[in-house]
Amino acid sequence: MKDGENPERDLQREKEARMLAESLLEKKTHELNHLNEKLQLRNGVIESFLNAIVIINYNLSDYPIEYVNPAFEKMTGYTFSEAIGKNPLLLHKKDETDYETLKHIDTMKIAMKRGIPFDAVLKSYKKDGKEFWCDLHFYPVKDPDNEKITHYVGILSDVTENKFFQAQLECEQKLKYQATHDVLTGLANRTLLIELLANAIAQAKREHQHIAVMVIDLDGFKFVNDGFGHSSGDKLLEIEAKRLRDTLRTSDTLGRFGGDEFVVIAPHVKDILLLPELIKRLLAVIEEPIFIENQELHMTCSIGLSIYPNDGIDPEMLLKNADAAMYRAKEQGKNTYQFFTSEMHTKIAKRLTVEHGLRHALERNELTLYYQPKLDLKAKSIVGFEALIRWEHPERGLLMPDEFISIAEDSGLIIPIGEWVLRTACIQNKAWQDAGYPPIVVSVNLSPRQFKQKNFVGIVKTILEETNLKPEHLELELTESLIMSNAEEFINVLRALKDLGVLLSIDDFGTGYSSLSCLRRFPVNWLKIDRSFVSALGEGEDAASIIKAIISLGHSLNLRVLAEGVETQDQLNTLGEYNCDEIQGFYLSRPMPPDKVLSLLQGGFLTDK
Ligand code: C2E
Ligand code: MG
Ligand code: MG
Repeated sequence: MKDGENPERDLQREKEARMLAESLLEKKTHELNHLNEKLQLRNGVIESFLNAIVIINYNLSDYPIEYVNPAFEKMTGYTFSEAIGKNPLLLHKKDETDYETLKHIDTMKIAMKRGIPFDAVLKSYKKDGKEFWCDLHFYPVKDPDNEKITHYVGILSDVTENKFFQAQLECEQKLKYQATHDVLTGLANRTLLIELLANAIAQAKREHQHIAVMVIDLDGFKFVNDGFGHSSGDKLLEIEAKRLRDTLRTSDTLGRFGGDEFVVIAPHVKDILLLPELIKRLLAVIEEPIFIENQELHMTCSIGLSIYPNDGIDPEMLLKNADAAMYRAKEQGKNTYQFFTSEMHTKIAKRLTVEHGLRHALERNELTLYYQPKLDLKAKSIVGFEALIRWEHPERGLLMPDEFISIAEDSGLIIPIGEWVLRTACIQNKAWQDAGYPPIVVSVNLSPRQFKQKNFVGIVKTILEETNLKPEHLELELTESLIMSNAEEFINVLRALKDLGVLLSIDDFGTGYSSLSCLRRFPVNWLKIDRSFVSALGEGEDAASIIKAIISLGHSLNLRVLAEGVETQDQLNTLGEYNCDEIQGFYLSRPMPPDKVLSLLQGGFLTDK
């Protein structure tokens, strides 16, 4: 019989097939339900897991976070949406300086590149910046089909409060401390010092800075040890170490290389020529008396210096050279210092001599003011004088400001000197007025340090009151680079000076980078075009067009414009054509002592130049 010829059997087969299909479907549904339940269970476990979980996409270059569980949100303060797409380094500071942490982060990066698991306990930071210790374990997750890593799963926990961890940390820190510090003084030992110097060098290289390395060796320490015994020697070392530490900046590192040898790393050295200030203080504190077994001892030390990058670019070379310099200091008779390079030493010695002399110049009346006239081009009359300082040096003759003003500025001597200049110029101007000459404006140059004094406006006010000079007869000259260096802060000082009634000018204009919007807000009266533009007149178009631009800028701001350094008739004529208001320069007159000014005044203000 063929198919279809036995309907009863066909029906039976169809029924069996349906039942089979139904049972298969039921089985599949059951399996799916089971799978779903399993997934839900897993999801539930992950979501309610007490540890923070993070899943990272391994296929994208920056390893972005794809998932974090609520425990992660709770632990770090970052919400799910804040964390997604970020790099896992989200929990670390970009500018981390902790050496250990940086080392761990590097190891983690390498492990991830190689696709292997890694774990670490790392100093980390929550969203609010709070530091915590994060115990983390990261595992790669592979695609079962091709064994390729698709993700990394990380399990993290905050172990900051964990007692076991704390004990371990303490123990590690103790061990590390012992391995890196000198037992007697608690200072960094050679190992740590070299490590810190290497770090400082890396930073100085990035920031193009200098580092000073000093080797300090006590002179004749052996006699203390031999004469008073080792425990007295130890006590002395402890005292001297503390004195050195207290004299240094917090950013400097002091270490002990054993025996009586100390090492200083002074990073961020702005001006090498200022180092002797610090060195002198170090020499002085070592020398303070020490009482041992009822005896008063006066120790001294010898200091050798090397400078990064001039004298070496790695810790070994810098230390070796500083050591060599220290031995030279001993040869020089001890209780002194030497730089590794003699050229540096000569420069410093010269500067110190000037500074030393300058300290006495004020009290010995060696400073004096010269005055240079300013000519109004339209009125053809002298409208003012600029006071310029000179130093009548007992041995070197008349010294110009560029030989000593910057040294006065660095050493702080500019404060009393600047005040002397202000007072002397005011007294002189008042004396000319009292002698019957028409009132005239005298200008005084201000140095940055002087202008930045908190009570500067008060000082000017007092001097005006004491000398009885009207404020409108005093002009203060500030360089463009000074006021632009901190325009927002200085505007208030300038306003206060303006309120006092004194006149203000911007000196050496054109050499700094004035912002036009700032210039508009500065309450100044003059722009003084820098000498370099005037002297370049006739050497091409550049100087001429800059001068013209400054003049029209000044006039548009209602300021008067003065050109400095006019030396020739041609320059004078050109400036007149450009509509410059005033000029100053050797063509009209060199700066001169007060008695010469008097003869000029006696001759009347008008000049035919
Ligand atoms: P400055 O304020 O720009 O002063 C103008 C300088 O140019 C003066 O030099 C002046 O002698 C010089 N000079 C004037 N006309 C001519 C010229 O035609 N040709 C040439 N080649 N030079 C000319 P000086 O007196 O040597 O002063 C130099 C700088 O020292 C001054 O520049 C000023 O910044 C500073 N200075 C002078 N006296 C003082 C002071 O009492 N206190 C402070 N803080 N700085 C001062
Ligand atoms: Mg000036
Ligand atoms: Mg100038």
